[in-house]
Amino acid sequence: MIDFELSEQQNQIKEMTHWFAENEIRPIAMEAEKLGDVPYEWLQKINSMGIQLNTSSFGGGSGESKGGKKKEREGNRMGVLATEEMAWGDPAITLSLPGAGLGGPPVQSSGTPEQQERFLSIFTADEPRWGAYALTEPEAGSDASGVQTTAKKVDGGYVLNGQKIFITNGARASWVVVFATVDASLGKAGQRAFVVEKGMKGFSSPKKVEKMGLRANETAELVLEDCFVPDENLLGGEELYQESDTKPSGFRVAMKTFDSTRPIVASMAIGIARAAYEYTLDIVRKEYPKSGRLFHLASETLATLEQNIQAARLLTWEAAWKADVGEANAKEAAMCKAYAGQMALDVCERCLELLGPAGLDGHIVEKWYRDVKVFDIFEGTNQVQHLVVARRQYAPYGVKV
Ligand SMILES: Cc1cc2nc3c(=O)[nH]c(=O)nc-3n(C[C@H](O)[C@H](O)[C@H](O)COP(=O)(O)OP(=O)(O)OC[C@H]3O[C@@H](n4cnc5c(N)ncnc54)[C@H](O)[C@@H]3O)c2cc1C
Repeated sequence: MIDFELSEQQNQIKEMTHWFAENEIRPIAMEAEKLGDVPYEWLQKINSMGIQLNTSSFGGGSGESKGGKKKEREGNRMGVLATEEMAWGDPAITLSLPGAGLGGPPVQSSGTPEQQERFLSIFTADEPRWGAYALTEPEAGSDASGVQTTAKKVDGGYVLNGQKIFITNGARASWVVVFATVDASLGKAGQRAFVVEKGMKGFSSPKKVEKMGLRANETAELVLEDCFVPDENLLGGEELYQESDTKPSGFRVAMKTFDSTRPIVASMAIGIARAAYEYTLDIVRKEYPKSGRLFHLASETLATLEQNIQAARLLTWEAAWKADVGEANAKEAAMCKAYAGQMALDVCERCLELLGPAGLDGHIVEKWYRDVKVFDIFEGTNQVQHLVVARRQYAPYGVKV
């Protein structure tokens, strides 16, 4: 049977993160937007409070069971509940919170126990620290199998050469999970995942990207020039890639990450949509005349928006729940991400329309409208999510999409 009731612990997380979003995040959202960064003193304060709210800190991780054994956990459900609340406070600040970020899931799911300890334990340090995930390149975005960054085996490690673009928290990260190929002609089978650490010779971040939205969150370009990465930083160790010809392990590490992070990204979009919807409902309730055609039109619009937000939330909860109970969830993760991204863009647009002049430049709803656009691009565009779904629709009939 289906049970939509949240457990006591889930309710506590939701309430705690909402309090944090309302009292700590939202009050600095516009300041951070103008600054183009989250004030470092604020990050230090949050870090020193020992608050671990980075989305990877809930110990999600994707779902498909290992060796037929299913092990239930709650991390993915906790992650989506908390993330919706924090993105309601502000999405750019949520993405900037110290922690492993998108780099967390691949280390959690594919790192050796020694690597998990070495890379994940640093986030309890006094100073704020970040992790990152670098797959995208100028010639490899939606088609992640086209990674051109090379990894050449040498004595004691690998030498990496290439360029990564649009990397969230890439320049400030203490380490980055970088995807590279040992042989581009092998396609997916040639890919390996490496943990490249800040300060390694030949690893640099020459440029931060200016964006229309999420301006307070760092997006960076990364360059690897004859960068030596020791064997112990090959994610999962050599064993993970031994059957690479038949089992493209590096590519799988990259894709598996999305099964747990797409529901998180969907819940961020839902948080932004809810923020815009609640804000607009309040204005309509207080300022619109309570009768007449305009009020009815606004009320019908707002009812539709709430309905669509709830539909996205239920899709997202299902995807997170499947990951928690150890079931394959790639299709549900793609569906919730595609639906929530498009829904949130539509909600923000309709709210701007209802607000009229109140939604002009310099207003928080205008900011949310700019922030939300990228949610149908990163972690795979909407077209790519639909491809993921289509592949699974046709698979039983042996048709390849
Ligand atoms: C703010 C931001 C943060 C990001 N953070 C990260 C990060 O931390 N790490 C990381 O690795 N990447 C990150 N990215 C990159 C992001 O994941 C890519 O931008 C995204 O995957 C799309 O790739 P692309 O930009 O190269 O577009 P392209 O792949 O060039 O696509 C262009 C258009 O063509 C469409 N298209 C492409 N292929 C197909 C197809 N087969 N069928 C139908 N339509 C298709 C796409 O849907 C899109 O509309 C980030 C991007 C942004 C903007």
